[in-house]
Amino acid sequence: MSDVLRVQWTITPRTAPQPWLSCSRCGEARPFRSSDKIRLNANGKRVDAWLIYKCTGCGSTWNRPILERRSVRTIEPDLLMALHTSEQALARRLAFDVEGLRRCAGRVEEFDDALVIKTVLSESTMPARQLEILCSVPEPVGLRVDRLLAKELQLPRSRIQTLVKAGDLVAFPQESHLRRTVRDGLRIVLELARSCP
Ligand SMILES: [Zn+2]
Repeated sequence: MSDVLRVQWTITPRTAPQPWLSCSRCGEARPFRSSDKIRLNANGKRVDAWLIYKCTGCGSTWNRPILERRSVRTIEPDLLMALHTSEQALARRLAFDVEGLRRCAGRVEEFDDALVIKTVLSESTMPARQLEILCSVPEPVGLRVDRLLAKELQLPRSRIQTLVKAGDLVAFPQESHLRRTVRDGLRIVLELARSCP
């Protein structure tokens, strides 16, 4: 018999990260938003591709390099087709690739609004004493673990801190820090008996 309730939280960011770039028309730095459009330029056997961003102030565009002077033979045909048709899934994946964006833009703003879908993996056979949460994060999300827990468990963040200090809320892998952003594979174990008096 098990007294553990296991759930999975699939956490999907709603807003893609935005680079802050100096906009010549606005005359200052502004956040730019992905238009989810890809531009492809084939020049002989070389291919360039960009994800197009627009200034949130004036609509001026910025082309984020995705492929630069790449030999067409080294590109997977499926990827080439997806780039060519501005495939939505690919455009979204690129827009949420915060590390890739950081490599070509200085300051990048991340957002913590996320959709959390909860599924029960295994129910306890007796009143649950432990809640185990497995976090699935398909795309990087700028949401801190403590904020996620406070919102989804409807507990004040100070309560989350108290639970951590008391050892009633433990995150795995053990070097996980609750003030960091939530990562794929994070596992949270919460002692229910002590957290919900
Ligand atoms: Zn502008």
